[in-house]
This record gives sequence, structure tokens and C-alpha cells, in this order.
Amino acid sequence: MPIPTLTVIDHPLVQHKLTLLRRRETPTARFHEVMREVSQLMGYELTRDLPLEDRPVETPLASFDAPLLTGKKLCLVSILRAGQGLLDGMRTLLPSARIGHIGLYRDQETLTPVEYFFKVPEDIEERMVILVDPMLATGHTAVAAVHRLKDAGAASIKLAVLVAAPEGLRTFHDAHPDVPVFTAAVDERLDENGYILPGLGDAGDRLYGTR
Ligand code: URA
Repeated sequence: MPIPTLTVIDHPLVQHKLTLLRRRETPTARFHEVMREVSQLMGYELTRDLPLEDRPVETPLASFDAPLLTGKKLCLVSILRAGQGLLDGMRTLLPSARIGHIGLYRDQETLTPVEYFFKVPEDIEERMVILVDPMLATGHTAVAAVHRLKDAGAASIKLAVLVAAPEGLRTFHDAHPDVPVFTAAVDERLDENGYILPGLGDAGDRLYGTR
């Protein structure tokens, strides 16, 4: 069944850059650089519905009413640690956005996400939140992160990922049907270790060169 809240960002530049990230031979520094570029392009699409309001402006030649952003302020929230890769580019695009961080690890026995860090702006309930994590694999981490953001008061949330597995999309949508998901690709499936196929490998390791 299609997921009504899903947007696949099929812009050619996004698709090209995603392919560079998928390549096994792309080195760490380049991976970081391209992740930053792709997140800026995704940010453009994620903010497409931001409201505008006409305000007076004086150009060197005339005065007129010109559009400026209005409405809710933004908060970018990164799921540690791979989320930092997407956060960098979006922050460049949205310099006045506040930043939050969520740290979750997977308990090896229960396989459920356990929180080890949570810090978001105090006025999160007044902000539009963009939650970023490059890989939506099983979906359990994103589901837990959104529960935590809602508990903290967030009322308007979008999830931005680079690559999603169909299993993760379904799990996430079942838990949070009110949260739109933006991705550059929906891949084939998960492998037996919970990695996305074909995917791009472990996003954190590729971003930081830890393997
Ligand atoms: N996390 C990753 O970094 N890669 C995957 O393929 C799945 C989860």
C-alpha cells in the first residue's frame, strides 16, 4: 500500500549525488562533502511549504512589498551520529534554525533503541522540527526519536532521510502517520543485519572513516 506522507526527492542533482555516496570507493572526505551538498538540496524541497508574507522593502530604485519567511521558526534535530552529515548542509541553508540532538543506541538483547542523549530547544512546541538521519532501516530509531520529540512538546515534525527501506517506511508510518517523510530513494529491502540493500553501507562509518 502506498504511503501517503512520503515524498521521494527525485531531482537529478540529488540522484547523482546519492549515487556518488553509494559508491564503495568514495573516500571519507568526499563522502562528507557530498552528504553536505545533498542535504542542502533536500532542505530546499523540505522547506517548499514554508509560509511567506509580503513586507515593505526598498531596493536602490523603488519601494515595494516583497516576500519574506514568516510563521513557525525552525528546529533541526539530528539523530547521532550519522544525522550530523545531513545536519551540516541543512544548517547552511537555514542558519537561524535552532539545533537539537538525540542519541540512541540499540540494546543488543532487546534490539530496542535506548536513549543516551536528548537536548532540544526549550520552545520546541513553537517550532517546525526537521528530524534528520541518513538511513531509515528498520525504522525503530526514527519511531523512538519522534515519540521523544512529541513527549517534549513538538507538534510539527518532518523526517528527512537519504535512503529508506520499505520495511522502515511502513513501521514509521504506522507509528507516526502525521509525520511526513522525505527521502532521496526507497531501496529494495533490509539484509539479515538490518542494513539497507543496496544502500550505501554504514552511514556513520563512511562519514567519519571509522571502518
Ligand atoms: N544504518 C546505516 O548506516 N546503514 C544501513 O544500511 C542501515 C542502518
